[in-house]
Amino acid sequence: MARIFNFSAGPAALPQSVLEQAQAEMLDFQGSGMSVMEISHRSKEFVAVAAQAEADFRALLDVSDDYHVLFLQGGATTQFAAIPLNLTVSGDTVDYVDTGSWSTKAIKEAGKYCNVNVVASAKDSNYDRIPDVESWQLSNDAKYLHICTNETICGVQFHSMPASTVPLIADMSSDFLSRPVEVDQFALIYGGAQKNIGPAGLTVVVVNKALCGSARSETPGTLDYAVQASADSMSNTPPTYSWYLAGLVFRWLKAQGGLAGIDAVNQRKAGKLYAAIDDSNFYHSPVQLAARSLMNVPFTMPDAVLNSAFVSGAEERGLWGLKGHRNVGGMRASIYNAVPEAAVDALVEYMHEFEHEHG
Ligand SMILES: *Cc1c(COP(=O)(O)O)cnc(C)c1O
Repeated sequence: MARIFNFSAGPAALPQSVLEQAQAEMLDFQGSGMSVMEISHRSKEFVAVAAQAEADFRALLDVSDDYHVLFLQGGATTQFAAIPLNLTVSGDTVDYVDTGSWSTKAIKEAGKYCNVNVVASAKDSNYDRIPDVESWQLSNDAKYLHICTNETICGVQFHSMPASTVPLIADMSSDFLSRPVEVDQFALIYGGAQKNIGPAGLTVVVVNKALCGSARSETPGTLDYAVQASADSMSNTPPTYSWYLAGLVFRWLKAQGGLAGIDAVNQRKAGKLYAAIDDSNFYHSPVQLAARSLMNVPFTMPDAVLNSAFVSGAEERGLWGLKGHRNVGGMRASIYNAVPEAAVDALVEYMHEFEHEHG
């Protein structure tokens, strides 16, 4: 069996030791004679799995008792609607920063429920930066300010969080648990699991308790934070297997030295890759230096004609998922927590070879 190096943007690589543990426990989870998938979500076995995952997640991010941690379904995309449904009434104004495709989608969805003020946009420069905070045109009556901390497609990341006088909300789908974050700065953090937390099907929402309990009456119960919090995220059947696997990833992260430990590795991995790009006259990063993502690294070559040769040569070497998004072109290497440093080393070595051959 040969495992490839997986640079996919999502669903993405999972730690090999996590997959091995899941495999070992597949047929008989802790002496139950069943797999986790076959156990009732109300059983003491699964309730323990769920509680341990939440405890480990809280420990990793240092989440205080002021926050609920919810394990939901529907992906980050469903939260684009759940957030205005829970936090606004019709006619309210909300502030959004437009840093790329995912903020654009969040803006469009929120626009169905309230008045969205786009405080700044980097669209005019093809999303190559975070618009200067000084230039943001904040409204004076916004219910909240929404950012996307890491734009998965264009590879732009916030490296410091903006101060906000209104509740700050962040889509962290593609950099959740990749670095330490001051949760107290935020009213709500959310993300789909399939980039950095676990398999698809699970959505994690960290929400300040003070903001829960005034969802619009038409809010589906499964999307109402107060309803889900009082049911321990089990107002209906939760995605039990994804929740279990995310729990294994949380434990793996603790063994890596927690978020500070993984952050150091992530900095090193991204540093090597950006150095390979910047030290060459062949590869080019479309993102301004200050906003470059440590998770998703797009890069282009002098001629788009080279793209397919790059991809097929990479696949021959076991380097998968490098084809760039059509909006950006070129290549994109997603180097989430579970992508080992050896994968980045192998990619950098291949980039040198390819440049030598085609440069
Ligand atoms: C992938 C992604 C989403 C969408 O997630 P789904 O779980 O597919 O709804 C939203 N925001 C960001 C930043 C993403 O990377």
